[in-house]
Amino acid sequence: MVEFVEIKAKSVLQKQKYRDNWFWSRYNLNPYRGCQFACNYCDAITEKYLVHEDYRDFSRIIHVKRNAPEVLEREVKKLKRDVVAMSGVTDPYQPAEKKYGLTRKLLEILAEHKFPVHIITKSDLVLRDVDLLREIVQQTWCTVSLTIIKQKLSRTCGEI
Ligand code: SF4
Repeated sequence: MVEFVEIKAKSVLQKQKYRDNWFWSRYNLNPYRGCQFACNYCDAITEKYLVHEDYRDFSRIIHVKRNAPEVLEREVKKLKRDVVAMSGVTDPYQPAEKKYGLTRKLLEILAEHKFPVHIITKSDLVLRDVDLLREIVQQTWCTVSLTIIKQKLSRTCGEI
């Protein structure tokens, strides 16, 4: 059972010291803290990030930054335009996004202010926002990186 905890963020756009070699980004933007996908290989549960005090809560308690759009609106006006990675330590299209729609609201703001975006996800929910991603790519730059995992089929799932 997943618990959603609504929180107020003081800031949402995290500026990196150097451009990220993997994602070409200068900023990280995480609408949620925690991730329901609970991948075994997730590095966000390591001590380096310590997103939750107990790493087992990472996929059980999802913090929802409800005021993220208002905070981002303020921040983009002050910062130099550069690539924003969504997200660093969560998946912006995890199931919580269906309920809260924060990623879409944040993308609308980034599109309005012409910030380039790199989306990193494993969810096909990203297809919901193709209209916005098109708008961003026409104005500046946008990439979507998808994680594809190989699943073992269990015999209990029946013959395929
Ligand atoms: S989707 Fe990404 S952030 Fe979420 S659990 Fe998997 S690796 Fe971690």
